[in-house]
Amino acid sequence: MNLNADKKVLALFKDSDALLQGHFKLTSGKHSEWYFEKIRLIDKPAALEKLVDLLVERIRAAGKDFDYVVSPAYGAIAIGFLVALKLGKRFAFTQRVDEKMSFRAGFTGIDGSKAVIVEDILTTGGSINEVVDSLKLRGVEIAGIYVLVDRTAGEALIEGRPVGSLLSLKVEAFEPDACPFCRKGMALTKPGASDKKI
Ligand SMILES: [Zn+2]
Repeated sequence: MNLNADKKVLALFKDSDALLQGHFKLTSGKHSEWYFEKIRLIDKPAALEKLVDLLVERIRAAGKDFDYVVSPAYGAIAIGFLVALKLGKRFAFTQRVDEKMSFRAGFTGIDGSKAVIVEDILTTGGSINEVVDSLKLRGVEIAGIYVLVDRTAGEALIEGRPVGSLLSLKVEAFEPDACPFCRKGMALTKPGASDKKI
């Protein structure tokens, strides 16, 4: 695995029980050493808050001026809301309505503002790109894009810019007959139902 994070961050993710290390059977049928149970990030608010504090430090250090933190529904709402609270900013979320990512009618203050996007996990960038599009429609200037976990190991660029992350990793998945953990005789775990699987 290509892993780029300091030990403190890794320990915090493990504390949240969101990042599991072992020998997992993925939905693809491949095997992996790592498994991400994304919903667990919000299952333990105290553990999430410690991660959010680190993300807030990162956003502060960038020194950009902005009005809003914007996150896509649903998992990232709790994360973005906490970031906004700690930075003294406003918060809005986008949600899919008839397949199209947009803001609820009540978020009128967003028009023409400056915003930072906060998402939980960057996998392909699909949902973040949709948030970018919905912000452009409202004339919003994007002051930064941040995620807790970048599963592209820093390779993904959104709108030509890098995405800030706490944990940047690319997980290797093996065919069962080429799996080094099977060779070692490690017991295989099939994780429970989840929206996103590595
Ligand atoms: Zn295996």
